[in-house]
Amino acid sequence: MLEDVGEEGQKKLDSAKVLVIGAGGLGSPVCLYLAAAGIGRIGILDYDIVEVSNLQRQIIHATSDIGKAKISSAQVKMKNLNPNVRIDTYFEKLTTNNALPIMQNYDFIIDATDNFASKFLINDACVLLNKPFSHAGVLKYRGQTMTILPHESACFACAFDEPPAKELNAIFRAGLFGVVPGIIGCIQASEAIKYILNLGELLTNTLLTMDIKTMNFRKVAIHKNPDCRVCSKENGIKELKTYHE
Ligand SMILES: [Zn+2]
Repeated sequence: MLEDVGEEGQKKLDSAKVLVIGAGGLGSPVCLYLAAAGIGRIGILDYDIVEVSNLQRQIIHATSDIGKAKISSAQVKMKNLNPNVRIDTYFEKLTTNNALPIMQNYDFIIDATDNFASKFLINDACVLLNKPFSHAGVLKYRGQTMTILPHESACFACAFDEPPAKELNAIFRAGLFGVVPGIIGCIQASEAIKYILNLGELLTNTLLTMDIKTMNFRKVAIHKNPDCRVCSKENGIKELKTYHE
């Protein structure tokens, strides 16, 4: 019924293909909202098993799913919600070998992963394939998200350049307020749907940050780096590489 969407928009959603990488805290709301919106084909890539400690935030999975592959658990919920959606499942880890062949089949990619190695790999692959994608990261009480249209807007490496040093990894395993990935994941799903419908303004050249303790939402301007090691014309990447975990 929305004047900007209508039947025409619903058809666009039906013919769209979105890949969600990670079926955890971010991926849960993303998968549910994409299925509910009627995205015609949704891919889910994850190689993890549902554990009881996931359930505080990974709301697509239930107690009865413990021990099952997350992709299977997610697929059941999405099919139940919308049987017309085609779901492709990939029970594998994202690597330099499978990233390009899998990602090239989709129109929009959602980075719903929880580690820097995957985030930088997804950015590299999206730049090489020229695929739009949504980045997100969550930690403790905070979250951030940004949408990237490769070669048009700033990429993840324009903003962050390189993964943090290995020694800092412990800082990034500090727990997570369960609702944070829910909020950020909903924003990622919105961005995918807006991109497909060509609706409104995307979070391009903009890092949206939120803090659940203060409820401060901020938009930080990110500029495309003309010398970016990934997306610049002259010094940009030519092939994928593996980042340290
Ligand atoms: Zn860049």
